[in-house]
Amino acid sequence: MAHWHDPNPLQRFIGNDTANVKVIASEQSADGSVSALLQGDKFEKKIRTQMPDGSPAAARLYPILPPTTRVYAEFLSACTACGKCIDVCPEHILKTAEKEYEVYGIHDARGKVTVSFELGFCRQNCHRCADVCPTGAIPLLELAEKRAVRMGWAQFNSRTCITQTDHVPCDACARHCPQKAIILVEKEGQKIPRINNRLCTGCGACEFYCPARPKAIYIEGI
Ligand code: SF4
Ligand code: SF4
Ligand code: SF4
Repeated sequence: MAHWHDPNPLQRFIGNDTANVKVIASEQSADGSVSALLQGDKFEKKIRTQMPDGSPAAARLYPILPPTTRVYAEFLSACTACGKCIDVCPEHILKTAEKEYEVYGIHDARGKVTVSFELGFCRQNCHRCADVCPTGAIPLLELAEKRAVRMGWAQFNSRTCITQTDHVPCDACARHCPQKAIILVEKEGQKIPRINNRLCTGCGACEFYCPARPKAIYIEGI
């Protein structure tokens, strides 16, 4: 039986549609952080739910893969670190990996590719990275299909959302979400985001536009 320090971790991580999601395992690491393995109808996912200091997880633990790549081991074995995708990304969200893949116990992935949303987010009408990838590590799909492939999961941390910290209205994440996966719901006199992770594809628009620091909404890799 999982032991939760967070009052409602499932809702925070996968939205309100938790009926078919089970906690398979929960573990505390040596540094004090807590992770859980979740299983739903069509997915299994390990998430970090609590930071070493006991606060809710507010930082990405699992790296984000380029769009349309689904399995990190397959991607890392096919990627030759040529950097062509990084060069052509109009949003500058593809970058050279440093230690990101070490969470999977992989220590030789430096120089391969991962995603971050400091400078932009993945455009729905773009597949330039797949166009130029010479090895097929980033599969080239029709745009409609590419748009439907999940890159990650949006996570919300109300403790840093400015609607709660500064008590000012904000709807940046909901307004910019191309999937309409975020609605605003009333909480203590302010409207706060609620994510529908069945609609979210992990494009990163919400993280990019969120004004909070640390980001109150961010994408966790698959
Ligand atoms: S699809 Fe376009 S915006 Fe998204 S990562 Fe690839 S090149 Fe960048
Ligand atoms: S990651 Fe993209 S699809 Fe998901 S909630 Fe954020 S903006 Fe919407
Ligand atoms: S954009 Fe960030 S600060 Fe604004 S409502 Fe969304 S999560 Fe909160």
